[in-house]
Amino acid sequence: MIQKNFYKNIGLGLSLSFLFNFGLTPELTLKAQEVKSSQGNFRLEKLDQAQKIDRSQLYARGGQFKVGYAPLENQKYQPIEEVLIESQFFETLAATLNQVFILPSDINIVFAECGEINAFYSPDNQAIIMCYELIEDFAIFSAQYAATDEEWIKSTLGGTMYVFVHELGHALIHVLELPVVGREEDAVDQLAVIIASEAGEFGELMAIVPATQYQLRGSQADARNVPYWDEHSLDLQRYYQIICLFYGSNPSKYRTLATLAQLPGDRAQKCPAEYQKLYANWTQLLQPHVRVDFSSQY
Ligand SMILES: [Zn+2]
Repeated sequence: MIQKNFYKNIGLGLSLSFLFNFGLTPELTLKAQEVKSSQGNFRLEKLDQAQKIDRSQLYARGGQFKVGYAPLENQKYQPIEEVLIESQFFETLAATLNQVFILPSDINIVFAECGEINAFYSPDNQAIIMCYELIEDFAIFSAQYAATDEEWIKSTLGGTMYVFVHELGHALIHVLELPVVGREEDAVDQLAVIIASEAGEFGELMAIVPATQYQLRGSQADARNVPYWDEHSLDLQRYYQIICLFYGSNPSKYRTLATLAQLPGDRAQKCPAEYQKLYANWTQLLQPHVRVDFSSQY
């Protein structure tokens, strides 16, 4: 089952990076508390344009996932930056991704202040931009219900990782020139759930934290201001999509989750087949860009 392995490798990369790097040392917990309590206004700052990628050199020297940190203007985000750098979480994850994918050119993973709660993929720079504001937003959201610091960090990271894998999907579609028929936003959400479904206990947080956020946002939305024009599906649709596919990845294990999440039975019935189909389709697209020797590392 070589096809199944590369999701598992990424999933394992996610959960192993988590276990090894977020050992929750006293220092990290202290930093995390600083993040939790940091407040204040901040200045909106535009990202510097990183160096543009020369796409005429495709595959000439191969590409790598590379992690970088844009200079901070607002010191409020320093604790988050320090936790990320000291844990080397994304560096370890990038190393796993480099073992899995054959890239024609580099994909940069950049942490930056964006002036908004967001993350995005910049095709010009071939860069996944992860905004500190987004991580902070997951931290504030998670603080509402996490009972311990450990739960809080896991939950913050789970939400952040879901968004990261969503952006990774956009990056792979662009850099590997993968065909997409239908809404790309939905396609990359589906890839994010597939990878989450292979990331064990940590993957459950990756799916549940953003799903809960979409559900809350969707139920609080003013009916007159629903963004029907948006390239993303509506928040409640994204919520049900994540729950349906995650349930579909292992119906017997996640039956209670589907019930608690109020996934209607008619839809739930179709979710395992939907998951299988999307899994096979993404596999077909990614397989030619995956190293054949990756399965030996774990
Ligand atoms: Zn997107």
